[in-house]
Amino acid sequence: MHNHYLIHIDGLVQGVGFRPFIYKLAQEHHLHGCVDNRNDGVYIELDCSQKDAELFINDVFKKKPKIAYIHKYSISLLRTSSSFSDFHITASKEHGSEITRISPDIAVCPDCLQDMETQPHRIRYPFINCTHCGPRFSIIKELPYDRSQTTMESFEMCQHCRSEYENITDRRFHAQPIACNHCGPYYSCKNNTDTSSLDYFSILQEIVKTVKSGGIVSMKGLGGYNLLCDAHNTESILRLREIKQREKKPFAIMFPDEKTAKKWLYINKTESDILHSWRRPIVLLKEHTKLNCELNQGFTTLGAILPYLPIHFDLFKYSNLDAVVFSSGNFGDEPIIIENYDAEKKLYPISDLFVSHNRDIHNRVDDSIVQYIDNNIQIIRRSRGYTPEPIVTENYTEGILAFGAEKTASFAIGKSKDIILSQHIGDLENMETFEFYRETIHRFCKLFRFNPRYLVSDLHPDYLSTRLAKEISQKTGVPLLQVQHHHAHAVSVMVEHNLYEDVLAICMDGSGLGTDNCSWGGEFLQCNRKEFIRLSHFPYIALPGGDKAAKEGWRMGVSFLHHYDLPIPETFKRTIGIEKINTIKTMINKHINTYYTSSCGRLFDAVSALSGICYQNSFQGEAAVLLEHTASDREKSSYPLSTEELSFHSLFKGIITDLEQNIPQAIIAAKFHNTLADILFNKALELLRENGLSKIVLSGGVFQNKRLLQLLIQKFKVKKIPYYYTSRIPCNDAGISVGQLGIGAATFYKN
Ligand code: ZN
Ligand code: ZN
Ligand code: FE
Repeated sequence: MHNHYLIHIDGLVQGVGFRPFIYKLAQEHHLHGCVDNRNDGVYIELDCSQKDAELFINDVFKKKPKIAYIHKYSISLLRTSSSFSDFHITASKEHGSEITRISPDIAVCPDCLQDMETQPHRIRYPFINCTHCGPRFSIIKELPYDRSQTTMESFEMCQHCRSEYENITDRRFHAQPIACNHCGPYYSCKNNTDTSSLDYFSILQEIVKTVKSGGIVSMKGLGGYNLLCDAHNTESILRLREIKQREKKPFAIMFPDEKTAKKWLYINKTESDILHSWRRPIVLLKEHTKLNCELNQGFTTLGAILPYLPIHFDLFKYSNLDAVVFSSGNFGDEPIIIENYDAEKKLYPISDLFVSHNRDIHNRVDDSIVQYIDNNIQIIRRSRGYTPEPIVTENYTEGILAFGAEKTASFAIGKSKDIILSQHIGDLENMETFEFYRETIHRFCKLFRFNPRYLVSDLHPDYLSTRLAKEISQKTGVPLLQVQHHHAHAVSVMVEHNLYEDVLAICMDGSGLGTDNCSWGGEFLQCNRKEFIRLSHFPYIALPGGDKAAKEGWRMGVSFLHHYDLPIPETFKRTIGIEKINTIKTMINKHINTYYTSSCGRLFDAVSALSGICYQNSFQGEAAVLLEHTASDREKSSYPLSTEELSFHSLFKGIITDLEQNIPQAIIAAKFHNTLADILFNKALELLRENGLSKIVLSGGVFQNKRLLQLLIQKFKVKKIPYYYTSRIPCNDAGISVGQLGIGAATFYKN
């Protein structure tokens, strides 16, 4: 009889070169046996002693491919009469309906960039990839991850590629998107006047020429089309803004390397690591020198990204460009364009050069956005490089579909104990975006073999996500649970940090429907995963004109001052006009089209407008971000605190006095942040004590504000109060679906 050890590894082990790695490791260890890819992970059988098996596992952890992660593993002893004469890889087979995880898309690796210069059949081949890099999620249609189930299916491998694909010792062994100059996808380009059949290098030269001469290039990328132009050319940037109907929202910039980016930006070690990581997100970095005012007016940060596709590397390699605007190929709130015919119709006419390729994008993934805070990376937009990596939990989540919110929509599904969050989708009020949302839900169901057993949505009856959930529930009879928006915000943090006990949740947000039919957004909740109690909240302030007041922050300025019976500052009066101000007052007094909100976001809007920084939002959160970025780093003082519970009376009184004395905006903005942090902290201390709670959870879109979050965290640190916020799940509404799913799991599965 022989001792065989069967090792089961669960995690991201498919499509990341895990089996060839195991094969090589077994050779190094002189072990016989086999490795097998199944739907629920990788199985390794070893014909050896227990000691050897343990040494082997140690090495698996130590040396595994960078992208692979191991969630858990188990080892069991098999007694058999057979033995192995070598170590081999068994052909993939399907076992059960459990699935392994799908890898996110991976930036091209250094080895592949090297091969572009040396491998005869891949000289300057821009679709080069290997088991450690290349497209994954964006091209996969179905599991298991095999070429025939991806958009590479239409490309037949040449002899050369096939031999590499089948050679266990090759870096491209079972690299599903493997391709070369002879057999793979290729770029094509069109300019205003003609369709030219140029080779790759000539296309590159065309791109460089166009960008340098101030033109706009549409270029098909990994998860969608991008729009490019010279970041130094103000005219091009303004033209791009006009084309994209993007008045002021900052543009991200692609730099050739970190050294170049440092000409304008500060980059610390953590930021550098994430910039260079295989995920390659846009990183929001602080500027020390302005690159170009038109890129990010009023902002002190700039979104930077490093090349992640071979063509990006080549663009900088064969030119002296040092900063290129790198924007999604879309208009207004529409989703990023992925289809060639769509791009040709919409992007070709508006660009000076149109560059496309013939590998289809199946799953749309925009560039992700992150920022550094508190020695951590906080994700703001989760998409390419992250989706569909699961959030691994300790609870059963199978069959739960959570629909998210509306403006920054996402949804999430539960598989076994995983929560798989969809990519960034956008504002559902846009018709195309809503279609993208529906289609993606459908695709996730198919891809992950997901059958909804329970549905969870927001309380808001008018969210398109809620309506869709209701519609599906009515049609199929699948039960629907509706949960409060800020409870979901809080639970998203609890899910990421495995919290179960009652916590104090501070939810600072734009808006979410409350159980009293008012719009909430400055909330202190006591909650666990199942229920919440609203302990306290910001005062209800009139929202004159409803949605309009959320866009036109100056209305909130009038509303807050009216609420506290304070005079309107002169400059504000002159800018807005006394008639408009009086109309708002009348609306409030007579309750015309006026709602009530405890929103913290609207408080930012009001202060931003009154201090003359931003009167109305051209994109969500603009006034608040500008207020944050205007604030001086040196100003440490606060406005006096009101004696009343959570009142902003003294705050606004202080601001008006400062305005009358012509105190700079930077000081007012800083004092506002300091005061708000004081108010939140004092209230938190009181509520912790009164309710016997010990842990604090921070969530809601307002906590994307680094200044506020840092001020608050600092205070908690001093008092040694444990605090939690999400870093892997967006704290804005894109994280809502994870919280909803957490509440659903606690409710339906009682865990
Ligand atoms: Zn590679
Ligand atoms: Zn080939
Ligand atoms: Fe929210």
